[in-house]
Amino acid sequence: MAPFEILDERFRHYVLANAPLVKLGEGFAWLEGAVWFADQDCLLFSDLPNDRIMRWTEDGGMSVFRRPSGFANGHTRDVQGRLIGCSHQHRCITRTELDGRITVLADRYGGKRLNSPNDVICRSDGTIWFSDPHYGINTDYEGGKQIPELPPTLYRLDPKDGTLRVMADDFEGPNGLAFSPDERLLYVAESGRQFAADPVQHIRVFDVLDEGKLLSAGRIFHTITPGFADGFRLDQDGNLWSSAGDGVHCIAPDGTKLGSISVPFTVSNLTFGGRNRCRLFICASHTLFAIYTNQRGAERP
Ligand code: MG
Repeated sequence: MAPFEILDERFRHYVLANAPLVKLGEGFAWLEGAVWFADQDCLLFSDLPNDRIMRWTEDGGMSVFRRPSGFANGHTRDVQGRLIGCSHQHRCITRTELDGRITVLADRYGGKRLNSPNDVICRSDGTIWFSDPHYGINTDYEGGKQIPELPPTLYRLDPKDGTLRVMADDFEGPNGLAFSPDERLLYVAESGRQFAADPVQHIRVFDVLDEGKLLSAGRIFHTITPGFADGFRLDQDGNLWSSAGDGVHCIAPDGTKLGSISVPFTVSNLTFGGRNRCRLFICASHTLFAIYTNQRGAERP
């Protein structure tokens, strides 16, 4: 049985009736931060509580890419293709240089330590945008208990001079984020009170103004149920493919849920990759899945 639920005919064109949900690996703790390296035909992703970044290739299978990882969470690539990552333990944003050195790009705002950067994306102008909630330093499981010094915030980092700018700070817990393909919109998951009876489950959308230096006030774009949105990616047409409690939900730019892919474990994050960026790699609790779709991911991860 195909693992799809089609709620809107648009979704029927994005899925393949004969494409199975394939398990690529299991036995991890909690997966996050998947990013595709087309030039190396490999996927990198975080096995967060095990303090490592994993690497997967079609022919070579699974290997450890980096351990310790500073309890790495979200990943992306900058405009030069370098790996950009979030570290819970070291409370910073890092860049892995082409020679393998690791550069800390940001670890403080206004003299205070960042909390636990969670997810990160790059804009085509080279700026790096990331969420900095408290989740990662609330427990020893995901990087070690530490005292937060700053409110949960969404930042824009200009790596040219290292300046950090607060783009929005009216969050309980900002999490995954992504630009629309034309970069006029920014989507941000808010997932505060995750284990409470009334968790925050929505994705907000902001207008990107003033050449990326300003955001409008956020408005609610979509409310995920069941579960909550952690990470997501967009496809080339601007549909948002989000993690959810029962799998992956596909949400149109107008906020309509088009359909879903059911996954047996809670999904935290995902990314498009593979040939033509049409394979969806899904981080689901302790298991990595993949499924081919009939849609291509946006050009920028
Ligand atoms: Mg996250």
